[in-house]
Amino acid sequence: VNEIKSNALIIASPDDNITDVAKRLVENNINHLPVVDSDNKLLGIVTSWDIANAVAKGETRLNNVMTKKVIIAREDEPVDVIARRIDKHNISGLPIIDKNNQVKGMITAEDISRLICARNTKEGV
Ligand code: SAM
Repeated sequence: VNEIKSNALIIASPDDNITDVAKRLVENNINHLPVVDSDNKLLGIVTSWDIANAVAKGETRLNNVMTKKVIIAREDEPVDVIARRIDKHNISGLPIIDKNNQVKGMITAEDISRLICARNTKEGV
């Protein structure tokens, strides 16, 4: 996980409004944001799907639409374990959490696809 995670740490706060979160997702060309407190501890996750859901329901505050029970990844976990977790839960990204429960980044299905493509290219597959 640590070797392939996205480098930039782009986050949201539970008090953010939906429009600001939508802009952050679009500007950074991403689909997932970990929602954190002032100590960078994980409170939830918000995805493009949640933003569409918020618009459909007329919700304006992130706290009302983010998912609070989050499936996470640890920095030292092998990528194939993460791939199985993503498949099992029908999701496409996991926040990466360190020993102090602080958010270090995200790992997504896209990161894993990129790794497989790079490996295959290297091996001439
Ligand atoms: N299959 C789609 C995908 O991969 O993004 C969406 C389906 S999934 C039912 C959408 C919900 O999963 C959203 O409400 C989102 O907040 C939630 N979700 C996404 N990643 C999550 C994670 N790591 N832990 C818990 N919930 C997550």
